[in-house]
Amino acid sequence: MADLTVLLDQVDKPHNLSAILRTCDAVGVLEAHAVCMQGRMPIFNTTSLGSQKWVPLHLHPDTTTILTNLKQQGFRIYGTHLSQEAMDYRDCDFTGPTAFVLGAEKWGLSESTAQLVDQIIFIPMRGMVQSLNVSVATATLLFEALRQRQAAGVLPEHGEGVPTNRYRSLLFEWAYPQVAAWCRREGRPYPGLDAEGAIAEDLPRSVRLRY
Ligand code: SAM
Repeated sequence: MADLTVLLDQVDKPHNLSAILRTCDAVGVLEAHAVCMQGRMPIFNTTSLGSQKWVPLHLHPDTTTILTNLKQQGFRIYGTHLSQEAMDYRDCDFTGPTAFVLGAEKWGLSESTAQLVDQIIFIPMRGMVQSLNVSVATATLLFEALRQRQAAGVLPEHGEGVPTNRYRSLLFEWAYPQVAAWCRREGRPYPGLDAEGAIAEDLPRSVRLRY
């Protein structure tokens, strides 16, 4: 889904970043966004099970730039923040273009970022601890969005919402990752696929052995 995404605002721990990307992959999120702490690059660990290969995490210099960009693309921005004004996430409609903004493990969402979102939401909790782990909160929200979209019958089946050329490239990379890597090394376009999803081109034998 190109119209469901997350923005991670200074989420820093490798196991959290990894678990979040793994959930994005599981739900069918096309790409995710992050603003990192100054001078830090995102690091993934084995928790991701390689999901960073399938769900690109785009890095941005600040939240204002990326949130303005997402708003221009028609996304409704939901910030997760434990405040009096926050709305129960179960009362929100996530069937339209939706971006969830998640805050840093220790400090949560910064006040300046909270000012930029369209709606503050929270996940009600019943225990003694004040907050959920950020990856658990992300999974809860993304699976609720998936549930709502499934119930509304608006889940894409064949790349609806993704430009055709991009969808074709992605489909090829997902179905034939090794052949795709070979094509990139050779600087040649990906071969077309037939109606059954088989490669509709006679490739060298050494490449054919890879699929
Ligand atoms: N002390 C921080 C605070 O007051 O926000 C706690 C940060 S929490 C460990 C990290 C992030 O997880 C939060 O910024 C939010 O994005 C998400 N989160 C945790 N619990 C949540 C909840 N109950 N509802 C919505 N988001 C939650």
